[in-house]
Amino acid sequence: MTTSTAFHGASLELRNLTLAYGPIEVLRNVSLSIEPGTTTCIIGPSGSGKSTLLRGINRLHEPKNGDVLLAGRSVLKDKPDALRLRIGMVFQHFNLFPDHSALENVALAPWKVKGRPKAEAMEIARQRLAEVGLAQRADHRPRDLSGGQQQRVAIARALAMEPEVMLFDEATSALDPELVKGVLTLMAELCQRGMTMVVVTHEMGFARRVADQVVFMDEGEIVEAGTPEQIFERPQSARLQRFLSEVL
Ligand code: ADP
Ligand code: MG
Repeated sequence: MTTSTAFHGASLELRNLTLAYGPIEVLRNVSLSIEPGTTTCIIGPSGSGKSTLLRGINRLHEPKNGDVLLAGRSVLKDKPDALRLRIGMVFQHFNLFPDHSALENVALAPWKVKGRPKAEAMEIARQRLAEVGLAQRADHRPRDLSGGQQQRVAIARALAMEPEVMLFDEATSALDPELVKGVLTLMAELCQRGMTMVVVTHEMGFARRVADQVVFMDEGEIVEAGTPEQIFERPQSARLQRFLSEVL
């Protein structure tokens, strides 16, 4: 790893957030406080509303009720496009541009979206790629990279926007098992460097080791939230106990 800049992650607060698809509320009254520079892992069964929660944070899905505060200010006051410059998101599928090199994929964000001069955007991209361990792969197309490397390019691309918060939605679920560790290690590094991270994950080992806070969701609600120790060693609800017995 080359010289790594420190991040200045922002605080995030969800206040009674309710999201619906048509008449059906799939997230009900979710409240959550996230301190700057901390990692919150969201766990829970399929269909419990984890992805919807992330989509509510960056307004890919507009709330029916409630609010989200980023650095203490309502995200509803910003235009969604402006908000998404401040919140990076990494998905299960990397969605890289197939006909561009890794370097170009990362540089396009600061160049085309943020309007930085091209040379400066390329310099930022070089730095970010080096930070995710891919300096030697800058000229490769996505198809010539492994899944883990492609996901690291996607993370570098999100970081090139200098986000205040990073959202990860099952970022390692599509990877071959031997490639998962490298991506999780990178995510843990971002956390150590001060990024505010909200991580939806099935990797219970990562949640246990890296999270400052673990949130268990079921049926569109937060059932329990606490430290990894509280959630994994002393689960209170029958629902969480059952979930852990199925996944651990
Ligand atoms: P998770 O990420 O925890 O698996 P999701 O947030 O994807 O859960 O989904 C929560 C609920 O919302 C599920 O019942 C799902 O079927 C429903 N849902 C998700 N996306 C849509 C959609 N586009 N239209 C209608 N219902 C949806
Ligand atoms: Mg999901």
